[in-house]
Order: sequence, then C-alpha cells, then structure tokens
Amino acid sequence: MKILVANLGSTSFKYRLFNMANEAVLARGGVERIGSAQSKCFVEVAGQREELTIEAKDHAVAVRLCLQQLTDKKCLSSPTELSAIGFKAVHARGITGVHLVDDAVLAAMEAYNDIVPAHNPPYVTAMRLLAKELPEIPLVAAFETGFHETIPPAERHYAIPIEWAEKFGIKRWGFHGASHRYIAERSAQLIAATLNPSHAKGQWEELRVISCHLGGSSSLCAIRAGKSQATSMGMTPQSGLPQNNRVGDLDPFALPAIVRATGKTLDEVLSVLANQSGLEGLSGKSNDLRDVEDAAAKGDPNAKLALDVYVASVRHYLGAYIVLLGGADAIVFTGGIGENSANMREAICGNLDWFGIRLDTERNRSARGEVRVDATNSRVQLWIMPTNEEIIVARQTRDCVLV
Ligand code: ADP
Repeated sequence: MKILVANLGSTSFKYRLFNMANEAVLARGGVERIGSAQSKCFVEVAGQREELTIEAKDHAVAVRLCLQQLTDKKCLSSPTELSAIGFKAVHARGITGVHLVDDAVLAAMEAYNDIVPAHNPPYVTAMRLLAKELPEIPLVAAFETGFHETIPPAERHYAIPIEWAEKFGIKRWGFHGASHRYIAERSAQLIAATLNPSHAKGQWEELRVISCHLGGSSSLCAIRAGKSQATSMGMTPQSGLPQNNRVGDLDPFALPAIVRATGKTLDEVLSVLANQSGLEGLSGKSNDLRDVEDAAAKGDPNAKLALDVYVASVRHYLGAYIVLLGGADAIVFTGGIGENSANMREAICGNLDWFGIRLDTERNRSARGEVRVDATNSRVQLWIMPTNEEIIVARQTRDCVLV
C-alpha cells in the first residue's frame, strides 16, 4: 500500500510518499508558488533531486502533476496505485481523531477558521478542491487533537460555565498530536527497555515521559503509558508556550485593555497576537530562534528577554508535568528548537538537580540526531529525538482506509 502524506500551504503542496509494507519513504517532493505561471516543482527519489518549473494553476493540478512525476519515476505503477492522501489537520469543531474528508469534516474545519487562522483556511480551500477534482483518491484528515483524547477532565476543563464546555467545546484540546504520539511510541521502544530489560519490546505500562516539542510552534505533553495526560496548548494553537510569532498564554481580560489602549479592533488585536507576538513580538527582531539567540549574544536586552520568557514558560509546564506524573522517567526534546538549540536545552534543564535532572553539558553541545544527553548521575533520562510526524499520519491514514 502506498500513501502520500501532504502538507498544504495557501500556495504550496509538499509531500512524502510511503510504502507502508516497510514504511520506507519512496519519494519526497512538492510544488511552490501554486497559482503563478512559474510554479517550482521538485521531486527527490533515492537522494536524487530534480527541480523544474511548471504551471500549476491550483492545488489539484499540482497534485496531479506530482502523481504523474512519481509514476514516471516508477515510484507508483500508475497514479491510481496511490491508496490515499493523508493530512496532518489541526482542529475542527466537534470532531477529533482520524476521518475520511467529506463535506461534514470540511465544514467542521471551516467553522474553526477564525481560531486556527494560520492552518485551517488554506487546508479547507485546498482539500475542498482536491476532493472535487480528484474524487478517486481518498483524502484522510488526521487531527492534531486526536492524541490528546486521553486527557482526563481535570486537565481538560477551563473554569468557565460548564455549559460552554459541553455546548461549544470550549476545552483544552491540545495540538502537536502527531509529534507527541511519535515521541510516546519511540520512547517506549528506546527507554522502557533501559528501565526494565524484561520489557524490551516497549510497552512498559508506567513509563512517564515529558515530550517537549519546541519548534516554530511549541508545546509540552505529559505522557503516561503512551497516553497524553496533559498538554500546554489549550482550545487553540495560540495558547500555552510563546510560539515563534504567536502569543501563548494570555489573560483574556487583557484583551479589552489592549483594544482600548491601541484603538485597534478586536480582530486586529487578535491578528497581532497570532502573527506578531511570541518570540518575534518580545524580541522585536525575528520569529526565528537563531536570530533571537544571535541578537541576545550581542547584548540585545529584548532578545534576551524573549529567550528568558520562552525558557521560563517551558520550565513552568515541565514542573507542572513532573508533579502531574509523580516524577518522570524521561524528558524528550524534539522540533527545530528542541533538536538543534543546545543553549535552550541547557537553560531549560538548569538547576534541576533536586528533581534528579542533570544534563551532560558536553554531550548536549555535540549532540546530533537521536541521542541521550543526561549525565551519568541523572535520575531522569534526557533525550533528543527527531520527531517524525509524517510516519504517524501515514499509519493513521492506512488504518483509516483499511477499515
Ligand atoms: P515547525 O514548527 O514550523 O515545523 P520546526 O520544528 O522546524 O518548525 O522549528 C523551527 C524553529 O527551529 C525556528 O524557530 C528555528 O529558529 C529553530 N531552529 C532551527 N534550527 C536551529 C538551530 N540550529 N538553533 C536554534 N534554533 C533552531
């Protein structure tokens, strides 16, 4: 069975093609600048990259061209060999988990366009077009909220009138589900065996992992026995930790004060909170952590503040989840920042000896790929694990179309 896992932007389409028999990536590729006369298309098979300029007036044309390319390159025997296209979808009103894309799913996603402004509008537009123009290919939406279905009510509910939660779904849904699920499963393979060799195959029922997905957007997740118990993002992906350009947690009563003080409308303020806040808003420099780290190293006080706020927020949730889980067997760093920024890992793990958390600073500095970075006397294992959200979506898509 061959599955394409796709990432959609308003003018882009990127994919990986999986052979589910052995979960090998057969090809990766995509199209950028969809809608222009000069769309850039690339495909990479067995490390060989080919680029060309095509005309893709919309996402349906772009997908058809990619499928033909994959057929020409013998990754598919024909475009119809593709069993499904899977999408890492973010949030929809009233549904979570994994679903075949139909009108009801699209309408539920569209209903949350306003609270997931960066992701839902381009996905809904492109998926609707693909559903119409490529009816022969099943489209599957694997929602980021799905992994968090196991969060218990105490961590799920805001302290608001209960009928708002029940009627309108105003709850902590949580996101980054594909990444946290991957970390949960990979940790079970890697860590459980080291704790108790008789569980070498993985499923150690009490394994407590705190997954730190730190990237363009960031969240922590408390995982017990492979199941999400709490996560830092709430009703929307704008909440929790500060993100690259999104606000993170904010007192809702700050909103009217901001509206009054700036003279902006509520929608304008929300747009600033969703696009010009987080690391970018605080530092006034950039939404890229590398730039903020560089500016801080040169003495820029706002860049330093942005880093301090980010680290403090990660540690806030880390502490909460150690308490929630009654300790931790492992803390795992993943995502662009978690995998690459030794400085951030060092700052986050600093001064936690009392909790048995001790980073090996040398190993942390030289770490590459999937590796342990705790000191020999650390009670808690510290890991860097490159996440693999695509393989999770590919498996979920396979399971959905096989039912
Ligand atoms: P996304 O959440 O969009 O998938 P990533 O997980 O790739 O993004 O993370 C992007 C973030 O990772 C950016 O803010 C970038 O600054 C940060 N990043 C990438 N490489 C490094 C690095 N070498 N050092 C510090 N930060 C890095």
